[in-house]
Amino acid sequence: MNPQADNPLLDIRGLSKTYLGRHNLADRLSGRQQTRVQAVSDVSFDIRAGEVLGLIGESGCGKSTLGRSILRLHEPTTGTVTFDGVDVTGLDDAAMKAMRRRMQIIFQDPYASLNPRRTVAEIVGLPLKLHGLAPTPAEMRDKVAAIVEKVGLKTAHLDRYPHQFSGGQRQRIGIARALVSNPEFIVCDEPVSALDVSIQAQIIELLTDLKQEMGLTYLFISHDISVIGYLSDRVAVMYLGEIVEMGPVESILARPRHPYTQSLMSAVPEVETSARKARVRLTGDLPSPLSPPAGCKFHTRCPLAIDICRKTAPRTEPVGNGHQAACHRLAENLSLLDPVQ
Ligand code: SF4
Repeated sequence: MNPQADNPLLDIRGLSKTYLGRHNLADRLSGRQQTRVQAVSDVSFDIRAGEVLGLIGESGCGKSTLGRSILRLHEPTTGTVTFDGVDVTGLDDAAMKAMRRRMQIIFQDPYASLNPRRTVAEIVGLPLKLHGLAPTPAEMRDKVAAIVEKVGLKTAHLDRYPHQFSGGQRQRIGIARALVSNPEFIVCDEPVSALDVSIQAQIIELLTDLKQEMGLTYLFISHDISVIGYLSDRVAVMYLGEIVEMGPVESILARPRHPYTQSLMSAVPEVETSARKARVRLTGDLPSPLSPPAGCKFHTRCPLAIDICRKTAPRTEPVGNGHQAACHRLAENLSLLDPVQ
């Protein structure tokens, strides 16, 4: 058992991220309002040391923005991110740079995230250089070679360029770059969704093994409930910038309480849950975050929506065993769902 299992390594309170649209002089003179997109709205959760929190939702729901805001790659608009007791939202540039050694990210698209003009040795060695972790070229080469081998590549690959690798190998380079500074927390931002299905399983196994070996903590972002169900200890479900349900993975898979979570699961035949038997079909597109629906943001697509859902946002309520959800019909929604015959 991990003795640190109950300590929150990361504590996020009231995190929001709003992007402002362009608003030039002509816009101001004509009285045109500046557009605002609230990508993340008042999100709070913690992640314990050694835990994998899976974050799931459709494309465009704000999950990548949330991951990047936690690392301050995108500056949060409001809220706090406390990492190992330190409020990272209050750090100056130098202190934040030092903190990034401990908080890293693996990006979705390994090709776009690797500099095509740099060799593997240069790409993977860059964090060591930035953080002063390898004072001599020989130490740099040794540390880079060690992590490259740990992620399943060969030292013979060190002087090659990203275009000389397959998609799976490129993601291994991205993983090596994230891990070379020996971080504790990693945002895995859809790390397998750009890969062939046959390669996805290898990368998932690699991330699982590295987590055990290096004692890592992950925020694992994905739109794939099978991947999230396999890897996560707890799951947070995001819809239009809000966490609508969160809980232990077994509880979320066996008894999802929010109609949105139920609809995500009923779309995947191999996920064996009560939701599989529920006819909760997700229809229509995600509404634009430029003009989110009033009340419960899911009401435009929810088969269980009633009057209050269109006017009042539901509060997040506990439903037992660390499981919580935000829905006006929590008490009744399981019995209301229409079982498949
Ligand atoms: Fe559906 Fe209403 Fe619950 Fe929102 S609050 S998920 S609209 S039932």
